Amino acid sequence: MSSDLPPVRGPRQPDAVEVYDTTLRDGSQLEGISLTVDDKLRIAEQLDHLGVHYVEGGWPGANPKDDEFFARAPAELALATSTLVAFGSTRRVKGKTDDDPTLRHLIEAGTSTVCIVGKCWDYHVTEALRTTLDEGVAMVADSVAFLRGQGRRVFFDAEHFFDGYKHNPEFSLRVLEAAVGSGAECLVLCDTNGGSLPFEVERIVAEVDDYLRVPLGIHVHDDTGCAVANTLAAVRAGATQVQGTINGIGERTGNANLSTIVPDLSLKMGVRTLPEGRLERLTSVSHHVAELVNVALNPQAPYVGSSAFAHKAGLHVSAIARRPDAYEHVDADLVGNGTRFVVSELAGRSTLEIKARELGLELDGKELGDVVDQLKHLEHEGYHFEVADGSLELLMRAATGWEQPFFTLESFRVIVDHRPGEHGTPDEVVTEATIKVVVDGERHIATAEGNGPVNALDTALRQAIGRRYPGFDRLHLTDFKVRVLDTSKATGAVTRVLIDSTNGERTWSTIGVSENIIEASWEALVDSIVYGLFHTGDGGEAGSSRDGDPA
Ligand SMILES: [Zn+2]
Repeated sequence: MSSDLPPVRGPRQPDAVEVYDTTLRDGSQLEGISLTVDDKLRIAEQLDHLGVHYVEGGWPGANPKDDEFFARAPAELALATSTLVAFGSTRRVKGKTDDDPTLRHLIEAGTSTVCIVGKCWDYHVTEALRTTLDEGVAMVADSVAFLRGQGRRVFFDAEHFFDGYKHNPEFSLRVLEAAVGSGAECLVLCDTNGGSLPFEVERIVAEVDDYLRVPLGIHVHDDTGCAVANTLAAVRAGATQVQGTINGIGERTGNANLSTIVPDLSLKMGVRTLPEGRLERLTSVSHHVAELVNVALNPQAPYVGSSAFAHKAGLHVSAIARRPDAYEHVDADLVGNGTRFVVSELAGRSTLEIKARELGLELDGKELGDVVDQLKHLEHEGYHFEVADGSLELLMRAATGWEQPFFTLESFRVIVDHRPGEHGTPDEVVTEATIKVVVDGERHIATAEGNGPVNALDTALRQAIGRRYPGFDRLHLTDFKVRVLDTSKATGAVTRVLIDSTNGERTWSTIGVSENIIEASWEALVDSIVYGLFHTGDGGEAGSSRDGDPA
């Protein structure tokens, strides 16, 4: 059983590392991301809930949002575990530290700890800064000394360190010596353009560690697809601080992915990372942050993805259910994820039996047989339950006699109004939905506009019954896929709609199939909402939180 094997330890490897999250600064460089200050505060809370040592909040002075974040943080962020860090750079070329705007903003951010970046590649000093190497070193030394003089703890991000070291190790090491000599307490070696490979990182970190004997950190990007491997290699070589982002978000190909690195270090290498009992919050925090940054989590993400412990196996499925350790590299519960069995037409009765057990449903032989028949029939019509775990669960619950208690549809109507633009303005398309539903014998009617039929129906339904179910607020549709299936039936093509949804802690998929795209969308939407309400505290029996996360 793999998880019982002794961890792989290197001779230089530390017993513990500090986890430094830069989702709010480097991670938010990903194109398409635009975080509000409220988003940033909520992400910081999630990081604290996970238990990272340092949360880099942003670059004060670089944009008004980061200034507002640091201004509001003292009153609005009650961090229990994490230390907030402000990020900045060294003073300007030939400038003075005491009238340098970047350094002044860093002090004004009011954090106990700051991280400043400085150039360690001679080429960048002479070509980008257009100054001498001596001035490059002085900029680092002066800036660190100034911040220490203001009572701050200082981490030094050694920009382009690996490239610099390969070209001119004497200069790169001089910069590090200047930083540490002025009082920096951790030297973070950065692979800023992400071009390094694990064996280079391991060798170079070990050489620097031999030369300086001070705490080293590692900050890498994923341009070679090796950011996780490079981080692990650096820890093997003695690094004691790992920097990265939740889900690896960041510009270009992303930053080092803490959602992978933390369990790798903890479970495979025996290095302490998060405080005791926090690793099992990883999956929930990863999903929550994905929702806050509005970047869908890759289902295949290691450890935290919805497919990470999903098994599609007709023949071996009962063996997996009996002995998951024979098929899974770690126990999914350790990272707060769960083993999941993917059901398809081919998988048959034994898979469904396991699925029922997983859901805590008692299905007798006849009910199970009915579900198998129903699935076969529906898959023939174009349903595809392998990708719609939410709809499958509702179907299986219905087989036990369960009926969704949330609302009954009386009718809905969707109107699409296309108006030609006047005087050269673009055409206007407005979709309006009116919905009539009954809840506890009471009739609710609502009309809403949307940017398409699903959005309009969703909005109308929220207006009609949202107040009755507080959990509704937390449900969001994250993806909507339409596929036209060319069936061989005389009726012609049918439309299959798949909707992905989340409540911030779990994600689920639902399906609808009809000859009419709006009908198919409605079917998928109703399943999405019923599943969501059931698992978000409005369904009674099934709370969604794995760990008491206040969401
Ligand atoms: Zn970076």
